[in-house]
Parts: sequence; structure tokens; C-alpha cells
Amino acid sequence: MISWLASCWQYKCPRCRKSQIFKIPLDVKNPLDMNKNCKECNLDFEPEPGFYYGAMFISYIITAFLFLAVALTLVFYFNWSVNASMSIVILIGILMFLKVLRLSRSIYIHMIVRYDSSF
Ligand SMILES: [Zn+2]
Repeated sequence: MISWLASCWQYKCPRCRKSQIFKIPLDVKNPLDMNKNCKECNLDFEPEPGFYYGAMFISYIITAFLFLAVALTLVFYFNWSVNASMSIVILIGILMFLKVLRLSRSIYIHMIVRYDSSF
């Protein structure tokens, strides 16, 4: 059994933590392609239409705090200029876009569905 955090990070099913939420390999044109159900425990990964709207707030929180932490560290700790640190923040934003997109959905469904050790 893997931890809650590892399960979120690896996009595992929140109930059995065995099979994958998203389709693999990642299709860059459809990064949010999800499997309909869990192969192990048959959990429905989209219980209702619009279920993942809440994931937008998770995504917002992750990016806002990450960007703020990076920008403040560069400006106040390393004495970088604001423009230089903003360039780094934008670069990190581009590199992490797909990860944050999927991670926020994964965290969201993990917050809603409890782990069940019987699977
Ligand atoms: Zn499952």
C-alpha cells in the first residue's frame, strides 16, 4: 500500500491505490484523458458531470503558492531583479503545466474518495 501523497502524485485510484486514473501514455493534445472506471475496484472516476470544477481551485492554490514562494525567494534571498525572477516563474509555470493540471484532479478525487484496504 502506498501513502495518500504518493497515490496523488502517481495518479492512482483513490480507493484501491492500484490502477491509474489517467490514460497512459500521456497524450499532450488531451492531457486530461481519464479512464472511465478503475480496473481494480471499478470506482467511477467521473461520478457526475462537472465533478472536476473544484480541481481548478486546487490548481490555483498550488500554482499561486509555488510561484509566490519562488518569486519571493529569488527577489529577497538571492537579490534578483523582479523581471528576472518573473521570467523564472513563467518558465516553471510552463514546465509544470501538465503536472499541475493532472495533479490537481488527482488531489481533488483523493479528497473526496476514501481509501479502502479491502481492494
Ligand atoms: Zn480502484
